[in-house]
Amino acid sequence: MGGGILIGIGIYLVLIYPVYRGLKLLPMILPRCPCCTQFQQGFHILNAEWPRIRFRCPTCSGEFVIWHNGRPDSSETWECPVLALKWPYALGRYKRMKNPEQDLTPNA
Ligand SMILES: [Zn+2]
Repeated sequence: MGGGILIGIGIYLVLIYPVYRGLKLLPMILPRCPCCTQFQQGFHILNAEWPRIRFRCPTCSGEFVIWHNGRPDSSETWECPVLALKWPYALGRYKRMKNPEQDLTPNA
């Protein structure tokens, strides 16, 4: 009897939880493009290695990165604009991040 419940919990953890988490952490609300500052219907996903996902804007072809865990880590290259998704993640609040090692970058 108890075995069936455990299997059910196992299926939930393996199959359903990642899907739920994926939906939660990729909100439907998209940021404005940091390159052309326009709202877009959607972006091309170039590289989806959660939490760092790289997008390309269909309007200006600008590329940018969104960190879906709220904070870039030391692997960030800062070669294109970087946004971070802030808590609560599902609401789609984005913050433009700056390279902490280059505070004086002239481009806004
Ligand atoms: Zn754009």
